[in-house]
Amino acid sequence: MSLDKKTQCVHSGSLEDRQYKGVVSPVYPSTAYDYVDVDTYAYPRYFNTPNQKAVKDKLCALENAEDGIIFGSGMAAITTTLFGILKKGDHAVFQNDLYGGTHHAITTQMERFGIEYTLVDSMHWEDYEPVVRPNTKVIYVETPSNPLLKILDLKAMANLARSRGILTLIDNTFASPINQNPLDHGIDIVLHSGTKYLGGHSDICCGVALTTSALTKDIWNSSINLGGSLNPQMCHLLERSLKTLALRVKQQNINAQRIAEYLQSSPKVGGVYYPGLPDHPGHELAKEQMLGYGGMLSFEVNSDPNEFVKRLKLIKSAMSLGGVESTITCPAQTSHSKINAEERAKVGIKDGLLRMSVGIEEADDLIADLDHAINR
Ligand SMILES: *Cc1c(COP(=O)(O)O)cnc(C)c1O
Repeated sequence: MSLDKKTQCVHSGSLEDRQYKGVVSPVYPSTAYDYVDVDTYAYPRYFNTPNQKAVKDKLCALENAEDGIIFGSGMAAITTTLFGILKKGDHAVFQNDLYGGTHHAITTQMERFGIEYTLVDSMHWEDYEPVVRPNTKVIYVETPSNPLLKILDLKAMANLARSRGILTLIDNTFASPINQNPLDHGIDIVLHSGTKYLGGHSDICCGVALTTSALTKDIWNSSINLGGSLNPQMCHLLERSLKTLALRVKQQNINAQRIAEYLQSSPKVGGVYYPGLPDHPGHELAKEQMLGYGGMLSFEVNSDPNEFVKRLKLIKSAMSLGGVESTITCPAQTSHSKINAEERAKVGIKDGLLRMSVGIEEADDLIADLDHAINR
């Protein structure tokens, strides 16, 4: 029986409370489990305790994955997966327009371990073909991209990689499993910073890698050595959060579309970047490969971005994204501050660019808050 995502959010992976018949998964805080007559005994760092399994099964259902691993942060998921697959002498291809932390990790860590890499300054799959080498092992992308919400063709990228025996990885954080399921388009491994939409309340730090059973095993072999597992209590909190993921994201999609349209109609706002706008360069592609356009958008203000942000009353200036509350950041000062000004200009991130993570509040209230800050 194929279940709707809203139903999967509530029910998939739930543990049965056989002892007391409660309706929610019991929490198993134990770090010590019986080893007699079992294949692999449970242990938190083996990523196989009951609450890790429950939340993993729910996420597998939502991303149509066979198996996966739940980590203590998004970066733990990203780096452990990369180091689980790549070895000395391999070559990896990365989209240049990546989450700042990932970009920093690649450019400071890869060469230390003898892994070659190429950053591709393009969101067109055709531009990745010329940089592929005989030793290329992975292509790593992020779509919609941060912070300009550019869209990359997942199916075309997966086809190119498959034909060369290369694995494709995607950071699917911005879309969430509600708006985009990359495995359905032929991508091999899906990564999420669960700190964002999956947790959704700005109070959990976690990460996820979801893929086939075989690839999960490869990643797991490194994961148990690197040790970045999520503890049972946090797994329980994540499972609880995921029950409302579909509801939250659907409301965020609606709100973001309305706000993007409002901003576009305002003469005092420069460029507005949202894949749900018909004149966004990635709109047609997004319509094909996404199930919703998401809760992230960016726009340019002509005035001092910090002064603009200070005039907002509801929308909070804060790092991070994906929470029920609307937040706003200036990428040049936050997520992309580790990338130098020249690089930033190259990827089109102006100093007055603001990135908004749209929450689940009433859209009219958010628009009124923005309108006040724009027109004072
Ligand atoms: C936040 C984020 C990460 C890193 O996740 P952490 O949970 O902070 O380690 C990776 N990718 C994207 C797109 C993010 O937004």
